[in-house]
Amino acid sequence: MKSEFYDKVARQCVAGELLSTKTAADILSSDDIELLSLLNAAYAVRKKFVGKQVTIHIINNAQNGHCCEDCSYCAQAKPSKAEIEEYSLKSDREILLEAKNAHEHGAHRYCMVFSGRGPSQKRIDHLVRLVREIKSQYPIEVCVSAGLLDKDKAQMLADAGLDRLNHNLNTSARHYPSVCTTHTYEDRLNTLQAARQAGLQLCSGVILGMGENNDDVIEMAYTLRELGAESIPVNFFIPIEGTQLKKEPVLSPEYCLRALCLYRFLNPKAEIRIAAGRERYLRNMEVMALYPANSLFLDGYLNAKGASRARTLQMIKDAGFTISSEYSLDELIAAETSTNNTDDKDPSGEITIKNLKDLRPELESSI
Ligand code: SF4
Repeated sequence: MKSEFYDKVARQCVAGELLSTKTAADILSSDDIELLSLLNAAYAVRKKFVGKQVTIHIINNAQNGHCCEDCSYCAQAKPSKAEIEEYSLKSDREILLEAKNAHEHGAHRYCMVFSGRGPSQKRIDHLVRLVREIKSQYPIEVCVSAGLLDKDKAQMLADAGLDRLNHNLNTSARHYPSVCTTHTYEDRLNTLQAARQAGLQLCSGVILGMGENNDDVIEMAYTLRELGAESIPVNFFIPIEGTQLKKEPVLSPEYCLRALCLYRFLNPKAEIRIAAGRERYLRNMEVMALYPANSLFLDGYLNAKGASRARTLQMIKDAGFTISSEYSLDELIAAETSTNNTDDKDPSGEITIKNLKDLRPELESSI
């Protein structure tokens, strides 16, 4: 493809114009489109709207497992036999200590994730208190992922000061019944619309590698644009042993990078996050993902470990990007090195499930 093609794509996206489905499909799979030129075009769009900054997220499984839903990709689902550490809600003290820890490790945003179909009114009242407490103590943005919500519940969280609600699309409308039968794609859209009506920012992403086709990947990118999602985590499915969906995805590093470029082009101002599986599927191309994407999880995902904090921070620094934090990259790397928190397994190797210490680092001090 001639250089004019890449320039035109970048120009169109910066101008807010929508790419055609034909161009979107070519971006994902045409041999005529060169990866490096594509990344360069995606970077031009990224740079225009979010500069060279990377926002770091730290995820906190505030409650793990015990879920009644049957999402086939999820290690916490009722039918899952995955050997994860299950626990009901962490104490407030534990959650607050983890928020402090996230802030001190450079996190721009603290994401509290609650397994389950959706929160009861009692849980919402509790969340309201927690969000108020965190926001009053630390200068950190707060995001909650709590399942299906209606407008009234979303409004209570918004009034408490919650910044964002996470609720992923996960897969396309067409493919949704193949990955979950206990709730629908419509239920998910309704939750996102309720959050939007309540004035919350939306974090909604996808999981690639669950048997979807390129049309599904494209449809989700367009839907997220229509929703105006401020934050889009692009996950690559990690097949934790014991989950219902077992098949190891065929996701080449090149395909993952093309998908990230597509999400940047179709959602030019959004925070595009390289989410679960970046180490496993991008392998030695991982750093290239920072050109279309501007956000990542610092040290692992819901139930699978990721790279160490030190390695992730060093990757950001080596590529010349900056972070959105009151701490510098050098300070954060030095802190990780001094605590010897630098061990890294081969990221494309065996999947490692998080242990209790990973999931509840503040457990002992909270007792
Ligand atoms: S994705 Fe959420 S709702 Fe679905 S099984 Fe996992 S914890 Fe439950």
